[in-house]
Amino acid sequence: MNVDYILDQLERVRRIKPDQWVACCPAHADSSPSLAIRDTGEKLLMRCYAGCTFQEIADALGMHPREFFRDSKEPKSGIPGISRRDIYRDLTVELMTAYVVTRDRAEGKQIAANDVEREKLAWQRISKAMGVLK
Ligand SMILES: [Zn+2]
Repeated sequence: MNVDYILDQLERVRRIKPDQWVACCPAHADSSPSLAIRDTGEKLLMRCYAGCTFQEIADALGMHPREFFRDSKEPKSGIPGISRRDIYRDLTVELMTAYVVTRDRAEGKQIAANDVEREKLAWQRISKAMGVLK
């Protein structure tokens, strides 16, 4: 299961919680988002408040219902809605951000105040990510 891929197929997706989204239902003419989506960590639940079935929604997306289940081999992060892969990806971005500021400082460049703030945030996120991954 690739949550990002599934969400990319939907219109007017809005994240309402880390593991919950709303979007327009692909199985009926939906003008205001009536599809609730939730990532349980094991599968992606989808519920249409207009009454479309899960099978109709999967068919409209051209996907097999099996594709909404997370591969048991896919590493879990312990945080619903977030895979270890997501955390690795964010960790990489934050490490690069921190690296650029550190390198500029080492080269004697002037570091802008907002870059110093961003660097602090990067180290906080790196620390948090490493806590989750250990
Ligand atoms: Zn629907």
